Amino acid sequence: MHQNQLFNWTRLKLAGWYSGVMGFILCLFGFAIYQVMARAHWYGLDQELEVVSGTLHDALEPNLSQPGAINPAVQALLPSLCVVNTDCTGLQAEELTQTNKQRHILGVVGQEAYYLRFLNPAGEVVAIIGNQPTYTSSQFSSQQTWQTLEDTDGNRYHQVSIPLKTKDSRFWGYMEVGRSLKEFDDHLYTLKWLLLVGLPFALFLVALASWWLAGLAMQPVYQSYNQIQQFTADAAHELRTPLAAIRATVESVLQTPELTEPEARTTLQIVERQNHRLSQLVQDLLLLSRMDMQKFRCKHQPCCINDLISDVIEEFAALAIAEAVSLEAEINQTGSLPELYVSGDEEQLYRLLANLVNNAIQYTGPGGVVKIKLKREEAFAVITVQDTGIGISTADQARIFDRFYRVHSDRSRATGGSGLGLSIAQAITNAHQGMIQVQSEVGKGSSFTVRLPLLTYKHGSLPH
Ligand code: ADP
Repeated sequence: MHQNQLFNWTRLKLAGWYSGVMGFILCLFGFAIYQVMARAHWYGLDQELEVVSGTLHDALEPNLSQPGAINPAVQALLPSLCVVNTDCTGLQAEELTQTNKQRHILGVVGQEAYYLRFLNPAGEVVAIIGNQPTYTSSQFSSQQTWQTLEDTDGNRYHQVSIPLKTKDSRFWGYMEVGRSLKEFDDHLYTLKWLLLVGLPFALFLVALASWWLAGLAMQPVYQSYNQIQQFTADAAHELRTPLAAIRATVESVLQTPELTEPEARTTLQIVERQNHRLSQLVQDLLLLSRMDMQKFRCKHQPCCINDLISDVIEEFAALAIAEAVSLEAEINQTGSLPELYVSGDEEQLYRLLANLVNNAIQYTGPGGVVKIKLKREEAFAVITVQDTGIGISTADQARIFDRFYRVHSDRSRATGGSGLGLSIAQAITNAHQGMIQVQSEVGKGSSFTVRLPLLTYKHGSLPH
């Protein structure tokens, strides 16, 4: 296949398409994974902020009295709260020693990723917890509930802004709970790089696998392409011989100034013989190609194998005598074997047996014996054509059913054989759901066995 440019090119194109489609699916899948992970994380983040801000809101509101002012009760609740314009240096140490019972609820705001800010109704920061990021002014707006902000160092924060009321329901100001998105961004960054590096590597593997798979897929196509090439070459070769003979005969006759009647008759006989060979060859080829394309309509009539064998014996008796071969049949030998019927095409089944018997006579020397045996094995009729001829070597046995294959081409051609007889026999057997096998030993003879399923009637029983 490697030497054939057409197949190489097709394989490359096929591999390209495989890789393209698989690559597209992989990229789509990678993108989907990225999106799903990002959304799941983001959702988790939102939930966390919502819970924290809700808890703070519920804990703080009953302690607020003066709008915009941090009173001691709030300070007690949030010990690390740093009121703007006061010294907050000792707060961290104080927080560590605090044993406030609500610390476990509000402790989350003490985490490094979080910050908390209190703004008065005018939007001015009055107190903070944690590291307050410095936003670019255009991004700052305490009116929006949810915001994603970026500080001057490029770090992103997600923040929720909640309005607070005093215990007597006056507007106190805003509480902003924010969380750094560093962990989230780092996570997505790692995932992005993993996909960016992993995808080309996966694509490379896909390309290799595609090339290999394309090769596998092309294999049967290449084999049948080779078979067709071989078949065309063989067919052309077979057709050329009789055509050349006709042409040579006609040319020699045309060069003869005056033709006597016996000469003319001989010439016409040669042309007729070659013409017969040609038409026989064309008919065989047509039958085989029809069977290949499953266009051949095999009739399904009850055919009596016993009668078929008798007909073949009758037909080939003269040839057997001419070749000094004894042609025998072993049918109803014991007198107990009933007639066997198969469902099929009588003409084709006759042809199958005739091909086998003809070969057996042709390849058996004078004094040899050709036997046609028939027996029943369970639901099969088993026909064996056995001869004491030249035999076939084990290597050739594997090839004799190939089209145009001949073991002894000279001898075979001399007997009018084209190497299609056994191919046709096999095709007919297959069309009847049967099986053909050969057993042979060089110098001792050959035995061709055909197994055909016996005719069954609707209720499942055999006719006999
Ligand atoms: P052909 O028309 O040449 O006989 P077949 O397809 O019938 O072609 O047979 C293929 C080859 O198998 C023959 O050329 C012959 O060499 C071999 N062969 C077939 N039948 C026999 C046999 N009974 N004994 C020995 N050789 C056989």
